[in-house]
Amino acid sequence: MGVETLLPSDSIITTQVQKLINWSRRSAIWPMPFATACCGIELMATASSRYDLARFGAEVMRFSPRQADLMIVAGRVSIKMLPVLQRIYQQMTEPKWVISMGACASTGGVFDTYAVVQGIDQYVPVDVYVPGCPPRPETLIEAVMAIQRIIDLDNIPPKGPDGKRVPLNIAVQPTHVVQPQPVPITVGLS
Ligand code: SF4
Repeated sequence: MGVETLLPSDSIITTQVQKLINWSRRSAIWPMPFATACCGIELMATASSRYDLARFGAEVMRFSPRQADLMIVAGRVSIKMLPVLQRIYQQMTEPKWVISMGACASTGGVFDTYAVVQGIDQYVPVDVYVPGCPPRPETLIEAVMAIQRIIDLDNIPPKGPDGKRVPLNIAVQPTHVVQPQPVPITVGLS
């Protein structure tokens, strides 16, 4: 990566194995996109060149749960879809994390109906909640960075006495303010 060129040729670097493992793990989070609705478009934008999720090593979307360790639920989840969501979560590799992206995934959003899950945290442990309808890519990136910070702290997702995963319950704050339209819009009748 070019770092070795900055070091004298006779130097050595020491570190702890756990720190090396954490560094590798936090630099290669592989997301499993569970995108069901409009939030999925923002998820795709986050991986695009403008926002460049690759800077955080998390751009490799995996559509096989056994090759993924970060589930990003982007959009509403119907009751019919729920068993699929749970099965995919169970098949993902440990240690694994879950991001609930947008109002619909976290609360059902405006879809207060019997057919839509009113918050996926009732069924899978959610580590980071991303607010918005939809959230901006910057906010999703902040959620990925929150998980990276947890990995840096050696804080592998804890389990309760019953062996069940304890969710981290981190709520991301929006990192931007709403800007006015760059061009004034006027509506006139002629
Ligand atoms: S939170 Fe908003 S943008 Fe996201 S899936 Fe629901 S309605 Fe669509």
